[in-house]
Amino acid sequence: MTDVAARPKRVQVTGAWADGDKTPLNANEEFKQADDGLNVRQRIIDVYSKQGFASIPADDLRGRMRWWGLYTQRKEGIDGGQTATLAPEELDAEFFMMRVRSDGGALSNEQLRVIAGVSSEFARDTADISDRQNIQLHWIRIEDVPEIWSRLEAVGLSTTEACGDVPRVILGSPVAGIAANELVDGTPAVREILERYIGNPEFSNLPRKYKTAISGNPVLDIVHEANDISFVGVVHPEHGPGFDLWVGGGLSVNPIFAQRLGAWVSLDEIPEVWAGVTSIFRDYGYRRLRNKARLKFLMSDWGPEKFRRVLEDEYLHRTLADGPAPDASEARRDHIGVHPQNDGLFWVGVAPIAGRVSGSRLKRIADLAEQFGSGRVRLTPHQKLLVLDVPAENTEALVAALNPLDLQARPSEFRRGVMACTGIEYCKLALVETKARARLVVEELEARLPDFDVPFTIHVNGCPNACARTQVADVGLKGMVQQDADGNLTEIFQVHLGGGLGFEPQLARKTRALKVAAEDLPDYIERLARTFLAQRVDGESFRQ
Ligand code: SF4
Repeated sequence: MTDVAARPKRVQVTGAWADGDKTPLNANEEFKQADDGLNVRQRIIDVYSKQGFASIPADDLRGRMRWWGLYTQRKEGIDGGQTATLAPEELDAEFFMMRVRSDGGALSNEQLRVIAGVSSEFARDTADISDRQNIQLHWIRIEDVPEIWSRLEAVGLSTTEACGDVPRVILGSPVAGIAANELVDGTPAVREILERYIGNPEFSNLPRKYKTAISGNPVLDIVHEANDISFVGVVHPEHGPGFDLWVGGGLSVNPIFAQRLGAWVSLDEIPEVWAGVTSIFRDYGYRRLRNKARLKFLMSDWGPEKFRRVLEDEYLHRTLADGPAPDASEARRDHIGVHPQNDGLFWVGVAPIAGRVSGSRLKRIADLAEQFGSGRVRLTPHQKLLVLDVPAENTEALVAALNPLDLQARPSEFRRGVMACTGIEYCKLALVETKARARLVVEELEARLPDFDVPFTIHVNGCPNACARTQVADVGLKGMVQQDADGNLTEIFQVHLGGGLGFEPQLARKTRALKVAAEDLPDYIERLARTFLAQRVDGESFRQ
């Protein structure tokens, strides 16, 4: 019998490059190592756009094209029950979703018009505002991609690294530079990271997607709890305004909130610190299992102290200043409504239901932004849109002009609090419909509870991946399919209750048995809302 103590210790193979072996341990790591995802751009221009969809090999089609913001779109007519049973090529339509980067959610009037034009001409008038301040278009043909890129790039937009195992769009405060209460404007750091590192092969092969958020606004408006790396505005007692560093957040199927490293970072230091943390992810991040590859898993194993030590010792070669945590603020984070800016002008924040707009509506918004403001527009991480720089005398005229576009500046709490992911209409992983469902739920609840005036978030998700943040809503809905008594597949939602972000972030409670048929959602949520109204103590929020 072998002495247990004498047995060699089993080494956990994580696939981390820092272990000294870069042998790819899964198909994604193989294609990434065989050829950088960034290299597919030239093949799209030279070959695929000329020879058509059928000429695209699988590794480029379902792999590298994501590095340029292109996902194949779900074929029409495939129900949720078939999602897990069909081969990838059977799920692919010969069209793409294209994600256009708008870091910090900032768009000029000219940029908005170009996106609107692309949508009308090449994307069947589709456009959705995502919860990462991007605009997503659908029905894109490969033949049109070079022309679309040249139009976007002519106005400073791009799709570079909008998807894939790379640094995705950088979230920024939607009111950066204009909010009267802003501690520090993070925009220069967003720009610097974009210029230095996006599209740079130094970080074009990370273990998994990598999400960044930077905001110096005290209302914590960039969902820092759920990003891989966040810089959150704070005032240091000695050094003044700067940022508190958070690392390792992510929701999806294993939700984990980001943790503070306790380090204070000045505006100028952000790009260097960002590169250090990103390098740790690249070098030490787990690459064996895709579902364990996000930075949050490394952070969970190391903890904030070790993470900070490795960052300082191996990457920055200096220590960072210790710093304070952000102060509590009761203000709402979504910037909806009419608000004064720091320069005497106003912004008007409106709520398209679940981020759904269209090319024609974007064009109209661009016209109105120019007529009533300076033309500047911002997107938010809550699928909302702000028109900036509006003189006081124009605000009500703008509110009135946006209303017929279904863009309300004084929305009901249901309209204001709803978000939805792409869902079965276009997403190949989806099990159920989401955007139209969200609209139906909002319209029903508005009719049934017209006086409901408590903040109330409803996040509708088409599968367990939680792209619309299932676990941090008052009512988080995760789409599933279930067989009824006659053997027919029906769409249902598992309900997660009582989640939320803020100074006391909390993951929603999930009860396995709590599942609601899709068509019963309005009834179910109405009952919840009525019960809450009947039982609440003064000032209590839903999740308390
Ligand atoms: Fe697709 Fe699922 Fe994400 Fe919705 S949550 S967009 S269905 S992957």
